[in-house]
Amino acid sequence: MRIFPLALFAACVACTGGADAIKPDPRLGEPDTTWQALGDDLYVAIARAGGKAGSNAGVVVLPSEVLVFDAHFKVEAAEALGRELQKHFNRPVRWLVFSHHHVDHTGGRFGFPHDIEIVAHPNAAARLKAVCGASTKNCQPTRTVPNRFMLVMGGREFQILHLGRGHTDGDLVLWMPKERVLFAGDLFVRDHIGYWGDGFPREWSKTLDRVLELEPRVVVPGHGVPSDSRDVARFRDFIQFLTGAVERAAAQGQTVEQILSTLKLPPPYSFWRGQEMFMERNVRRVITERSSHKSN
Ligand SMILES: [Zn+2]
Ligand SMILES: [Zn+2]
Repeated sequence: MRIFPLALFAACVACTGGADAIKPDPRLGEPDTTWQALGDDLYVAIARAGGKAGSNAGVVVLPSEVLVFDAHFKVEAAEALGRELQKHFNRPVRWLVFSHHHVDHTGGRFGFPHDIEIVAHPNAAARLKAVCGASTKNCQPTRTVPNRFMLVMGGREFQILHLGRGHTDGDLVLWMPKERVLFAGDLFVRDHIGYWGDGFPREWSKTLDRVLELEPRVVVPGHGVPSDSRDVARFRDFIQFLTGAVERAAAQGQTVEQILSTLKLPPPYSFWRGQEMFMERNVRRVITERSSHKSN
C-alpha cells in the first residue's frame, strides 16, 4: 500500500481498503483546490478550507467534453476549474450536475460556458429558478432528474440518482458503476455532524442505506477528502442516534434548550466537527420534522 504525502489522506488510506487507489495529482489544482485521481480520467477537486471553491467538484474527462459534479461556491473558483480543464485536457465542460441547491455547490455555475446542460433534481431546480431573472444564463437547470438518469458517453456509464430525501428534498448523487465511485454531495460528511437545517432526518439514514447497497469503493463527500462505505455507515448511525435521542427527549416534554444542555454525544461523535455551528439547527430540524409527522 502506498502512503501519500497529504496527511489527512494518508490517515484515510490507512483506514480503508478500497480508497487506496486514490492519490493527489500534483499536476492539477486550482488555487483553492487539491485534485485527486479516483480512476482513469476521473478526479475530484477538493475544496481547501476558507477558499473560494467552498465545496468539492467531481470531474469526468470524456473524449470530447467534460462532466462536472457541483459547481463550487464562487464564480472565480468555477472559472479556475474551467481553465484547469482546458490547460490539461483541452476539452470544454458540457455537463454540470448539481448534488442539491445550496449555494456553496451551485454559486459557481455562472462561471461555466453558457451552452451546457445543467442537471438537478426538480426540487433543487425549482429553488434555483425561484431566484433567477428570466434571461440569466446558467441560472436554471436545463434538465431535471426526479429518480434516475443513465448516460453512456465515451464508453463510460454514469448514473445520476435520487436515492431519497436526506440533506435536502432534492439530493442527487453521481454513481460510476464501473469504477464504483459515488459522488454524494452533502448527503455524506466524514467526522462531522453535517447540516440538517433543510434535511429529513427520519429518511436520511434510509437514503444512506441505498448508497451502501451500491457497494461503492470510494464515496466523495461534498466537503473533505474521499472516503468509503465504513464512514458512510458511521454517519448513518449518527443520524439515527441523534434523531432518536432528540425525539425521545421531545416526547418527554423537553424544550430545545433543555435538549441542547443535556445532550451528550458519545465517542466517536463527541469528537466530530460542526457541533458549535450546526447542532442547534439540527436539533430544531428533528423536532420540526417530528411535529409535522404528528400533525399529519
Ligand atoms: Zn448542502
Ligand atoms: Zn455543502
